[in-house]
Amino acid sequence: RKVYGDVVAVDGIDLAVHRGEVFALLGPNGAGKTTTVEILEGFRRRDGGEVSVLGVDPDRADARWRSRVGIVLQGTGEFDELTVAEVVHHFANFYPEPDDPDSVIDRVGLADKARARTHTLSGGQKRRLDVALGIIGRPELLFLDEPTTGFDPKARREFWELIRNLATAGTTIVLTTHYLDEAEALADRVAVIAAGRLVDVAAPAKLGDRENALATVSWRTPEGDLEHTKSATPTALVSELAARFGGEVPGLTVTRPSLEDVYLEMIGHR
Ligand code: ATP
Repeated sequence: RKVYGDVVAVDGIDLAVHRGEVFALLGPNGAGKTTTVEILEGFRRRDGGEVSVLGVDPDRADARWRSRVGIVLQGTGEFDELTVAEVVHHFANFYPEPDDPDSVIDRVGLADKARARTHTLSGGQKRRLDVALGIIGRPELLFLDEPTTGFDPKARREFWELIRNLATAGTTIVLTTHYLDEAEALADRVAVIAAGRLVDVAAPAKLGDRENALATVSWRTPEGDLEHTKSATPTALVSELAARFGGEVPGLTVTRPSLEDVYLEMIGHR
């Protein structure tokens, strides 16, 4: 629980993130995601409840614990006249077993900007630098608060690859995002938070019983109109259509609700 004046930002979020998992927190603006993540990071004090991160209460954590945790905050750090390489090399010195700074710069896609002063970077490039600083200490657990805001589509895909590689290497990852495709592409499980409360936790494919939702089958009629039908047995409907058309069904699509559809439905009910 966390309260700011008369705003209750976190009001009972009970969840466990497993070692090695990629876990995404979803929720509308002001839902309490950043507050939750910052409590887990030891940046904010909770007003009530129990928290254990890597077996330690973040409120009482020491430097050794901090060196095991990587953090990419929502706000971008400013390093004015320093270059990308200088900042990353400097941060490497803060950790007992840092990664190789040049390799990290390369992995976040900033190799050609290594000698650039950080104030000359674009928004998306600054975000990549934030990610580099989050992973330079080889964290066991990495927190990412809206990591790809401002990334172009190609940079986002490259970032996903970076996260998948970290996850494959055993890093536990907790991220917040407003991009539902990002949650779907990366997360083993997602938690939906609204008004400081947990709404649901599930694998992206299972959230809100998405798997069992009705499918929408659409096709074009011989008159050229688009026909839509919701069906619990889309396979049977498609075979019936195939028989009716004597082969290919014109303009055929079969879709289930997207993660975004299910998410919006959940949030809409709150
Ligand atoms: P977003 O998606 O917009 O980043 P969020 O889910 O991360 O939102 P929080 O930043 O955790 O939301 O904010 C939760 C609530 O707490 C909001 O109503 C916000 O205005 C309030 N809040 C957050 N930080 C503070 C603070 N330092 N002082 C007062 N109120 C705060």
